[in-house]
Amino acid sequence: MIDIVGGGILGLTLAHELLKRGEYVRVWERADSLGGLMGRTRLPELGDVSYDRYYHTILSSDRTIMGLLDEVGLRSRLHTIATKMGFYHNGRSYPMSTPLEFLRFPPLGMIDRLRLAYTILACRQIKDWRALEQIPVEKWLAGLSGPRTLQHIWAPLLRAKFDGDVSQVPATYIWSRLVRTTDTRTKGGSQERMCYLPGGYQELIDALAATIRARDGVITTGATVDQLLITGDQVVGLVVDGQQIESNHVILTTQTPISRRLLPPEARTVSARWSQLEGFLGIVCMLLVLRRSLTPYYTLNITDERIPFTGVIETTNLIDPAHVGGYHLVYLPKYVAPGSPYANMSDDALCAAFLRYLRQMFPDLRDDEIAAVRISRERYVEPLHPVGATDMIPELTSEVAGLYLANTGQIYPQLTNGESVCAFACQVADEISRLVGVSRSPAALVAA
Ligand SMILES: Cc1cc2nc3c(=O)[nH]c(=O)nc-3n(C[C@H](O)[C@H](O)[C@H](O)COP(=O)(O)OP(=O)(O)OC[C@H]3O[C@@H](n4cnc5c(N)ncnc54)[C@H](O)[C@@H]3O)c2cc1C
Repeated sequence: MIDIVGGGILGLTLAHELLKRGEYVRVWERADSLGGLMGRTRLPELGDVSYDRYYHTILSSDRTIMGLLDEVGLRSRLHTIATKMGFYHNGRSYPMSTPLEFLRFPPLGMIDRLRLAYTILACRQIKDWRALEQIPVEKWLAGLSGPRTLQHIWAPLLRAKFDGDVSQVPATYIWSRLVRTTDTRTKGGSQERMCYLPGGYQELIDALAATIRARDGVITTGATVDQLLITGDQVVGLVVDGQQIESNHVILTTQTPISRRLLPPEARTVSARWSQLEGFLGIVCMLLVLRRSLTPYYTLNITDERIPFTGVIETTNLIDPAHVGGYHLVYLPKYVAPGSPYANMSDDALCAAFLRYLRQMFPDLRDDEIAAVRISRERYVEPLHPVGATDMIPELTSEVAGLYLANTGQIYPQLTNGESVCAFACQVADEISRLVGVSRSPAALVAA
């Protein structure tokens, strides 16, 4: 039996993959519903509806996700749409979806635009990312794109994404991002294609849970793992809501700072090692349910640093509004470092502040056009990998037999998203199934 802590997409995919490899699994999830960051929020004021707490898209290049959708019978429900992207710069929105719009972008001169295009092409040629992780991203981009593009485009976007301080962000960040997003473009690069399930990622979460249960996997929600039990150098169990449960194999899919809190004093060496790389950004995100569309874009990137949120994401420019009660869904995310004033603001103060800035961008947005508003927040969302820190990434195994760490902080240089998380879960399942097989082998049993 293998116990998995965390019922987000990582824990569930891992459970599914381990069952396929002949292992028995139990998943423990603290919340009352599955999905973690991919979960939903209820809006009773609009009837019996729930929407994604955070915007989520599937990219047409997400091969592992496509494979999973095939396995759980959801592939035929996937819709693929060409989406648009814009930039909000100096108080104005500009379309930036096609190469032509890109070449017309006013803040940059022709040479800058060509250098920007070159940056994207150059990224796609780089196969070995090892050298990039030693270079701060701004230094690298200044060399490729030039100082003006760095100042007007890259630096504001990076500062928004990392809540101000980008000095320790390695060049691998932009490299991974550009490779992932340009992979979704149609031949010739003229359009970006994104996909969605009408019920959001929750459809995949529910289908995975059903498949796991059908194969006799056990999933318990509303179950908080308080601590692991370790005797000598072996995991012997876990404490769930105060109750001890026997187990010889526990996989923690929770983010590293949460995982460390579950370790007993016996594992202090492991905890010290994991603490070397445990930086995470959090998020605050406002969802506006509108009676009309706000922009033509799926993503409106913001390079205007007077606006506090990272972008304006109108998911109903991808998802047909008919799937969400005819409303238009707009998300205003802000990634937050622990000390950020936005991280600690009350929901009411945050709503007031974000709405004030949104009205600066869209002065004609009226109160009666806003049907509902929700704030969602999370402390551990985006793992931080500083320049040259790859060797500090914690390993899957440790000197405590049966203790495994498998979380988004170990996914690198890929960015964390459904695709990279599921691909990582497949690798981890291979490795754990091998290790558990070895511990069950006759030789190991005789030795024990
Ligand atoms: C704003 C935003 C937009 C995003 N957009 C996209 C997108 O468009 N496309 C995409 O592919 N990805 C996107 N992502 C990324 C994606 O959501 C994450 O990569 C993914 O959900 C991470 O899954 P996880 O299972 O690793 O973590 P989580 O979802 O955080 O799951 C961890 C689970 O562990 C549980 N847990 C914690 N402590 C305990 C405990 N003590 N006991 C039991 N359970 C516990 C938590 O409740 C949680 O359910 C986005 C993320 C955000 C925040």
